[in-house]
Amino acid sequence: MDFIRSLADAALELVFPSGIKCICCGEPIPKGNTYSLCKHCFDSLRFIKNGCEKCGKPIPEEMHERLCSSCMDGAGRLNFDRAVCCMEYDDLVHRMIYAFKYGKKTFMGKYLAGIIMDKLEYEQMDFEIIVPVPLSKKRLRARGFNQAKIMADELSRFCKKPCKDILERTRDTDFLSGLSRYERKKELKGVFTLNEYSHNIISNRNILVVDDILTTGSTSSEIAITLKEGGAEGVYVICLATGRNIY
Ligand SMILES: [Zn+2]
Ligand SMILES: [Zn+2]
Repeated sequence: MDFIRSLADAALELVFPSGIKCICCGEPIPKGNTYSLCKHCFDSLRFIKNGCEKCGKPIPEEMHERLCSSCMDGAGRLNFDRAVCCMEYDDLVHRMIYAFKYGKKTFMGKYLAGIIMDKLEYEQMDFEIIVPVPLSKKRLRARGFNQAKIMADELSRFCKKPCKDILERTRDTDFLSGLSRYERKKELKGVFTLNEYSHNIISNRNILVVDDILTTGSTSSEIAITLKEGGAEGVYVICLATGRNIY
């Protein structure tokens, strides 16, 4: 019986190698599952197919619009050329991003970058250089890593385009949630600067900015101003997740 049991264990180990778990719920999964997710979690994620052509927020299918209500109202308020978002932000995505950022599960970066890579191909995004959204020095010291940089580095390996960590954040802006769009814009002014080596790197280039969550797009928009002032040609943004506009 022991022999049969160990045979069964060995067979199980082939299909579900120990240590390979769903990055969302922790259930054991077969090796090679897409994004290292179990079927249930994969099926539960709401991937955005019909996103606003400016900010990437999901547009309800029945609306047949190219822009979300917010971008239709305030055309031109966002300074990047285009943002795309991979998934709708919900409890499941919250848990996934929380584990990555605060559970120090940096290995997840590879799988999350896989989600981003597939979305970039689906949207046929064209860019030359990848730039992660920076953390402030204080935040970076406390957390030990920048989650956007980890994803950007993994993405760079997937798409064979350089990742350049050229932005600096002069202060934290966590208090932004709850502020109006106008207040956010005011608070974000001057938060991002370019380091001294950036000009030759970004001059006349199309840049892809990588972040985990897009809220109103104000942060990415402020980064786009900084990059364009530094000579960038186009600024595109990709975020893992975003919330819906209220319709
Ligand atoms: Zn799962
Ligand atoms: Zn929009």
